[in-house]
Amino acid sequence: MKFIHENFLLHTRTAARLYHQYAEAEPIFDYHCHLSPQDIGENRQFKNLFEIWLEGDHYKWRAMRANGVPERYCTGTTPPFEKFQAWAATVPHTLRNPLYHWTHLELKRYFGIDELLDEESAARIWKKANEQLATPELSAQGILKRFKVVAVCTTDDPTDTLEHHRALAASGLPTRVLPTFRPDKALAVHQPAPFNAWVKRLERAADMEVRDLVQFLEALQARHEYFHANGCRLSDHGLSQCYADFCSVKTAAAIFARARRGRAASPVEQAQFGTFMMLFFGRLDADKNWTKQLHLGALRNNNERLLKQLGPDTGFDSIGDFPQGTALAAYLNALERERALPKTIIYNLNPADNYLFATMLGNFPGDGIAAKVQMGSGWWFLDQKEGMEWQLNALSNLGLLSRFVGMVTDSRSFMSYPRHEYFRRVLCNLIGRDVEQGELPNDQKLLEPMIRNICYRNARQYLAVPEVGSGAKARKPTTRRRAR
Ligand SMILES: [Zn+2]
Repeated sequence: MKFIHENFLLHTRTAARLYHQYAEAEPIFDYHCHLSPQDIGENRQFKNLFEIWLEGDHYKWRAMRANGVPERYCTGTTPPFEKFQAWAATVPHTLRNPLYHWTHLELKRYFGIDELLDEESAARIWKKANEQLATPELSAQGILKRFKVVAVCTTDDPTDTLEHHRALAASGLPTRVLPTFRPDKALAVHQPAPFNAWVKRLERAADMEVRDLVQFLEALQARHEYFHANGCRLSDHGLSQCYADFCSVKTAAAIFARARRGRAASPVEQAQFGTFMMLFFGRLDADKNWTKQLHLGALRNNNERLLKQLGPDTGFDSIGDFPQGTALAAYLNALERERALPKTIIYNLNPADNYLFATMLGNFPGDGIAAKVQMGSGWWFLDQKEGMEWQLNALSNLGLLSRFVGMVTDSRSFMSYPRHEYFRRVLCNLIGRDVEQGELPNDQKLLEPMIRNICYRNARQYLAVPEVGSGAKARKPTTRRRAR
């Protein structure tokens, strides 16, 4: 039998039936990823397997480094095929690492390749894949079509012009490509030089001067509105833990003014300013009915030497052991108190916090909105079979699995769409097992909607992104629509 076969990860007959009948054909709503809108807009055609698969993938670099591969084959200037060979030689050493599954699932779904990747098969696979990468079916837009991706939400800085999103919206592309508002740089008063450079970009983007905190907030609000006008319905924040050091406007304004003059905020001041800004962003999101995403718990840039050499996001991050509960509850509560808590998805990185996060959801019900605070899918180091099962089990035990908005790729690569398939197989395998053990009724009326909803429909409904799933044609204003 081929390694990636029809019932890969599906261990019971019921699991296979649930997957093939209900999950497999649902479209994909990839509401959080790091794909380049420029690549989609220009319909990038990838020259070779290195460009689409290895170029920016720190998961693979980590495995290669762990396998003793020198840095020049990961991020260095070694020619693409040699880098690919170094990766291929590493693959047999990734047995039981999720990379082994992802690698072969991706080769199968993009190129129909069943051969296992190793040093010996590398040249054949390179050739076969590259031939197909030259076809329109595997251009950036071709890939979105093949995987039935109805919407992609990219991750964007508030100062971004969104020119590619605007061009894509005006094009006939059936996939909606929407921005996400990620204002992490607005909190960096502890690093005045990059902070002030960023404020300058903000001034240009908002077309106004920023002389004090009030104008800073005005400029950010103007960008929030601009993002909204361009279809944005989500924000995102990457934080080690929530900010919950509440301070007055006066204090925040003073911290801002000092940073503008070049004086770095102390850790306490930065936390106060961060709290002030996160409350501000919460209000903006609530006002526009956006969904806020909080990615909490990463311990980043742990290797100073290699950070200096290679920059951030190159594979030197870990799961952090920050205390999460008190600050997360205090932040959500502060917004709730002023009736300004937006729909919120909380993603945690430390599996020890799974139950903590899952018990946070029920504290902030939506008064008519199902699962207003959501527990995000297994993220980063937890984006694998075991991590997904932990997340699904925590959510099942302490919340409502049936209301879960499901999976995201959270990826920089166009080769990551099979992550949704992987997740759906894990989900159907869990449910199928429970059915066969008699712990869930074998009732189509119950199981079919739950599975379809988690795969796609909950996300579409919860995120309330305009016209997702109705195709490009429906977006063009018609006479009938204008008359209403
Ligand atoms: Zn992300």
